[in-house]
Amino acid sequence: MSAQLTKTHSQRDTDRLVAAGWTLKSEFRVAPNDEPYEYLLAWEHGGEAAYWRAKTWDEQGCEVCRQQWLSKGEIPNMLGGANGGVLLYRCDTCGTFWEETTREAHEITEAEARKVFPHLFQEAENHA
Ligand SMILES: [Zn+2]
Repeated sequence: MSAQLTKTHSQRDTDRLVAAGWTLKSEFRVAPNDEPYEYLLAWEHGGEAAYWRAKTWDEQGCEVCRQQWLSKGEIPNMLGGANGGVLLYRCDTCGTFWEETTREAHEITEAEARKVFPHLFQEAENHA
């Protein structure tokens, strides 16, 4: 039986595939101390490999936050930022976390938000 292989170029996509059952085989780096730029994963369960699929626009958040993004380019509850100019928002209506990059905004899970914006969660928990 030959394993199916796939590659990703981000830690987040790698995490999503590992959560779906893929095994991380290797990380490629330019230099030993660099961030990995490519990840190789294998599907070792046989049968059909499970792929993570990006949500379409209409599957993200709720009508309220989608409409705010479309009409204002932001939603009211901005929680803060992180390296690279990414911003974290949370919809007051549905509770969805949104990550805004320099190019676009998309829904992320709370676990993903904690990974990119750990300081925002620490502050919130210290004040609780
Ligand atoms: Zn919403």
